[in-house]
Amino acid sequence: MRRLTKHLYVETEYLWANVGAAVTEEGIVLIDCPVRPSQSRHWQEALRPLSEKGIRYLIGTDYHVDHTTGIGFLDGDFTFIAPQRVFDELEKIRGNTRATRKAFTDTLIDINEPDEAEQVATADVPPPHICFDDHLTMHMGELTFEIDRKGGHSPACTTVFVPEEGVLFSGDVMINEPGPGMGDANINEWIDALAWVETLPVEHVVPGHGEICTLREVRALKEQFIEIRGMMRDLVSAGSGKQDASTDKSFDKFFWSDTARGPSWVEGRRATFRKGLEKLYEEARSDFGA
Ligand SMILES: [Zn+2]
Repeated sequence: MRRLTKHLYVETEYLWANVGAAVTEEGIVLIDCPVRPSQSRHWQEALRPLSEKGIRYLIGTDYHVDHTTGIGFLDGDFTFIAPQRVFDELEKIRGNTRATRKAFTDTLIDINEPDEAEQVATADVPPPHICFDDHLTMHMGELTFEIDRKGGHSPACTTVFVPEEGVLFSGDVMINEPGPGMGDANINEWIDALAWVETLPVEHVVPGHGEICTLREVRALKEQFIEIRGMMRDLVSAGSGKQDASTDKSFDKFFWSDTARGPSWVEGRRATFRKGLEKLYEEARSDFGA
């Protein structure tokens, strides 16, 4: 666990997404939570000495498995806050979690954690108690939480800005590692979301994945997406079909996957990357009014 600013703590070492915590005089606010039961315990043990009031709120930044699945492993009586879109998507998978989480449970099996795989496969994720469409402001003691659904990476993708500390928990609006997941993305929206982040007075950006960064890395990701979008638009205007365009070798330089997570993970990332390019093809066609 790293203490990033006076009241804010971050962990970037867990599988899968980064997690944050704000320690206020009214208790702890979590931003996302660890997926693996062992890492959830580790995180809660690290936070326990910091507040007698314990965990009061959890802000979920996405419905993707890597951001909300570990809720059932958190102790205590806390309120779960997330965009309405998270509520809707969680309802869709209720009773059928195994299929949705397969890439994650297969990865846990690959890295020799079959017990955790089973716990994650069947983990109960309650619906959020409080939902918002686009924006919610929360005041907790000395801190303000400006919560915005920006979309881009997924339709639910949400950021949490804490102005008093100059920190943005960006969720997957900012992913500070190569090969950001595009499988559920709208690239036009994502570029707009990154451009919006660039206007915020922040010193630290806590990305959904990868190391803590600054607006410089945010700008670089935006430029990368502008490049990918331009390449796809060129293929579309040259008359390329969806199959050819989404498998075009020129995109390979944008693919990356953490091979330490085993073969199932890498295979899943390839499929996600391909799906993202297919979505981008459709987006590029509609940009041309086709
Ligand atoms: Zn993520």
